[in-house]
Amino acid sequence: MTTTIEEKPIHTLTEFYDLMDQTAQIRRKATLDVLSNREPGASDITSLRNALKNLKDAPEADSGKPFERHLRMDDDHGVTVDLDYEVTELARDITYLELGEAALKLVIEDQTPGLLSQADQLAQKLTDVLGSATLRSFITDRDGTVNNYCGRYRSSIQATYNAVFLTHFARSRATWPIVVTSGPLSGPGLLDVSVIPPKTYVMAASKGREYMDLSDNYGSFPAPEEQNRLLQDLHGDLKHLLEQPEQRKYGLIGSGLQVKFGQLTVARQDISGSVPEDESRAFLQAVTDLVERHDSEGHALRIEDTGLDIEIILTIGAGDDRKDFDKGDGVLFLDQELGLNLDKGPHLVCGDTFSDLPMLRATLERCPDTHAVFVTRKPELHKAVLELCPKAFLVAEPDILVLALHALSRGPQ
Ligand SMILES: [Mg+2]
Repeated sequence: MTTTIEEKPIHTLTEFYDLMDQTAQIRRKATLDVLSNREPGASDITSLRNALKNLKDAPEADSGKPFERHLRMDDDHGVTVDLDYEVTELARDITYLELGEAALKLVIEDQTPGLLSQADQLAQKLTDVLGSATLRSFITDRDGTVNNYCGRYRSSIQATYNAVFLTHFARSRATWPIVVTSGPLSGPGLLDVSVIPPKTYVMAASKGREYMDLSDNYGSFPAPEEQNRLLQDLHGDLKHLLEQPEQRKYGLIGSGLQVKFGQLTVARQDISGSVPEDESRAFLQAVTDLVERHDSEGHALRIEDTGLDIEIILTIGAGDDRKDFDKGDGVLFLDQELGLNLDKGPHLVCGDTFSDLPMLRATLERCPDTHAVFVTRKPELHKAVLELCPKAFLVAEPDILVLALHALSRGPQ
């Protein structure tokens, strides 16, 4: 069945997410068209234009920020959402599909002057160290690294141009292209927001605890039965908590309630700060009480509060070795499951936060022929990356990395 998007204003958060899901379907089709050298369908471009108009026509928020809109959650509650990511990426896709790559690059340069030359510089540096080698693995984080950052996971739909560039790179330069994200795989998750064709990247979610491989087969890190049951029971209770009228908003803002493999995430705030801080703290306490009821000894679960999300994580190991599963554990698990042969390089590891460092550390420990690009403006992360990998490259924007990878791609494009 073909999806078309009509011109129709959105008023609720549900309508917004439905609209973004539809753009994902159209963008997947457009991506396949571009990759097969077919003209993108005129009706698909019209649909994306309508989607962009529908976003812009949503009721404006009082903030006066250009893309902040006010959407209803239910009859009594509303939420302010910043649609900057969604609007910007849709506009870029329309330019790309209608006018091509050169026009897209002009738009990107116009948005951030100097960015194209920074991308060229990074491509040159990577060429200097890699030559024409095929990477054994290209292991990358998604959000903030090879995808511009969006405050809401559910609407962070990958752009067509981004999917095309990353596909070209994967197919021409890497034996094992792998995306490792901390979000869940589906329901909604990585597979729902990705536009890249299946079997192009190993899609690893929940920090690598679950994945779809290059043959589109599912795999997961085994957790003891009793731990899974504990998480399921807790999920049931959290769902119940979010059914109470005054708590409903936490299921709808930011990350919402996500069931990841080995982890639960529930939002307590969004980047617009739409929940009053005292209410948000009270909700954190309610969730903490609930977790303590399920795991009174504190042996199996750990709570991490990011200020926006409450993450409830299953620990691994036993006794004093008990720890959180991190992306480094994820990479080693994938090595074992898929036979990546991590001990043989070259590898390229990319990330944008401290939680991506274990991925780089694990790969470097297996093979010194490991290169890295980190996307960050934080001096403390710069320092940590360079301490671990002195030859790493640092850039300020995901666009720089994505354009550089595109420049490194080989063959007919
Ligand atoms: Mg990230």
